[in-house]
Amino acid sequence: MNKGNLFIVSGPSGTGKGTICNEFLKFDDVYLSVSVTTRDKRNDEVEGVTYIYDSVDGFRSRIDNDMMLEWAQYGDNFYGTPKDIVQQKLNAGINVILEIEVQGALKVKEKMPEAVMVFILPPSMEILRQRLINRGREEKEEIDKRIDIAMGELKKAELYDFIIVNDELSESVKSLRKIIDDRNKMMNFVNNLIEEYKNN
Ligand code: ADP
Ligand code: 5GP
Repeated sequence: MNKGNLFIVSGPSGTGKGTICNEFLKFDDVYLSVSVTTRDKRNDEVEGVTYIYDSVDGFRSRIDNDMMLEWAQYGDNFYGTPKDIVQQKLNAGINVILEIEVQGALKVKEKMPEAVMVFILPPSMEILRQRLINRGREEKEEIDKRIDIAMGELKKAELYDFIIVNDELSESVKSLRKIIDDRNKMMNFVNNLIEEYKNN
């Protein structure tokens, strides 16, 4: 059995990463990694599904116990990817999506250079702000902070393998599905060539 492939999805807050990635919950060949965060749980979020919520001390002890594949500070909070489950899923032949910000994405890429990096862009900065306002999760001050962070993140977009402009949601989902399928097909082909050589 072939290993699963690893995909990293990043982009400015409010661009629609979560909305796109959540569409992949219905596919059983894909596991959407659940991150640990020190930020407060929002009303529409579900513990263990949206995030694992932890205290700063709890988060530090996960780092000290080598439980994190990567972690980063975003705004005033910490976010990180639990390590073991990602490896388990990949070993079981399941593709893994990490929906994480840019600093963490680059750390994963260093450790796992085979990761496929996908950056999600908003159609315009005005639409980005509007999506953040419409989502209604953050106060204006926090929205301004996130747009400020977005400016830094956009400068890193060139480091990614693929860019999706999230205009029509269904098109964006199709684009990400195709990136995953193409990668799987390519790696299956490579693995078949290796098997063919071994068997001769
Ligand atoms: P992110 O995870 O990147 O912070 P979200 O997935 O929370 O962003 O999306 C931010 C807001 O934009 C949400 O209210 C979501 O419903 C909306 N949204 C996401 N994608 C689209 C789209 N293609 N067109 C219009 N609105 C969208
Ligand atoms: P939010 O507070 O909007 O849920 O997330 C803020 C930012 O943290 C987003 O850019 C999101 O992609 C990122 N993020 C979520 N989980 C992780 C993680 O495990 N690691 C890193 N580095 N970033 C994360």
